[in-house]
Amino acid sequence: MSNGLKLTDRRNSIPVDIGGVILGGDAPVVVQSMTNTDTADVAATVEQVAQLARAGSELVRITVNNEDAAKAVPHIRDELDKRACAVPLVGDFHYIGHKLLSAYPACAEALAKYRINPGNVGFREKRDKQFSSMIETALEYGRPVRIGVNWGSLDQELVTRLMNENAKSPNPKDAAEVTREALVVSALENAARAEELGLSRDRIVLSCKVSDVQSLIAVYADLAGRSDYALHLGLTEAGMGSKGIVASTAALAVLLQNGIGDTIRVSLTPEPGGDRTREVVVAQEILQTMGLRSFAPLVIACPGCGRTTSTVFQELAEKIQTHVRQRMPEWKKTYQGVEDMNLAVMGCIVNGPGESKHADIGISLPGTGEEPAAPVFIDGEKTLTLRGPDIAEEFQKIVDDYVDSHYKRRGGQNGGKDLDTDRAPSAAAG
Ligand code: SF4
Repeated sequence: MSNGLKLTDRRNSIPVDIGGVILGGDAPVVVQSMTNTDTADVAATVEQVAQLARAGSELVRITVNNEDAAKAVPHIRDELDKRACAVPLVGDFHYIGHKLLSAYPACAEALAKYRINPGNVGFREKRDKQFSSMIETALEYGRPVRIGVNWGSLDQELVTRLMNENAKSPNPKDAAEVTREALVVSALENAARAEELGLSRDRIVLSCKVSDVQSLIAVYADLAGRSDYALHLGLTEAGMGSKGIVASTAALAVLLQNGIGDTIRVSLTPEPGGDRTREVVVAQEILQTMGLRSFAPLVIACPGCGRTTSTVFQELAEKIQTHVRQRMPEWKKTYQGVEDMNLAVMGCIVNGPGESKHADIGISLPGTGEEPAAPVFIDGEKTLTLRGPDIAEEFQKIVDDYVDSHYKRRGGQNGGKDLDTDRAPSAAAG
């Protein structure tokens, strides 16, 4: 990276193919999400999966919590296929996953991966039988599994065993450390059992989710050092609004910076009536702002201050960010590398022209008392000046024209007068 800091080399992990999306190995870190519809409601679930996929979710998890949900899964897959939405579906199973997967083979077939929570598979002698049954289904359908441990549902028999061993140790650890060890051991022992049953390592993904940032970092650092399975990162129950975003970013950024993590999910609690796709946008923005992947052009905007008392630049920054996000699905299909474009919307002449020159396209709006003119910089050069009430519309048109003229069209046709062949398309994750 050009800032002097260096991303630690990516941890070596075994790649896992999930319905054509590769997790781990050299593949880019994959963004995934989860629906919050009733899976038995096919229409609502199809609609939300399609929205999440359109926002950029490369895998979508749905809960399969009862028979109606299991019956619905193949219909959900069919409807998505009819819409040409190929996003792989992951089934989230708890308590009765073994029964559902055996009783509803069309559900097992329609899912690209099964998530198994080892703390919710069953107790004592039933536990291994039920876990084995799910692994056998995975073997029968050639599906990978995620062994997803969660400290809210940690295997209590394992915790008791480790606590007893710890009590006898000459140097006992504190209870929090033993709990963290239990998370890691639960994931590793269940992965080993899945391998014993015949599931190969390239069909196993692990996760150990907790809701506390420092614990999450400690647990994944430990897990990453003790195995080479592909890892799914996520802070569970991250919370609402800025708290959820900040906590997830703090935890995931530290791990990603250290080369740990093959797929991420940001578990935001949506506000009532809020947009579920927010978790996808946040996950993408974590990866993009860290320089790990590019998804959509970023708009740099100054925070505003007393030098600009109007809200014009804030409104313009928002309009432009919304515009590029709305155009991205089409742009991405048509133009190579457009996701790397940088835009700047600045509030006055203090930093406006300078920041605008560093962007592909920048606009510096007039601050209080400045001439009512907005110079536009394209590729570092002041190219024109916008005036009047339609600055936002005119700037959007400039952005659209820039995309058409500067990015190579896919399929060989050159749509650009200034073709920049260095702009490789972002590494797609399938
Ligand atoms: S660019 Fe101007 S308006 Fe924006 S924060 Fe800086 S001084 Fe304030």
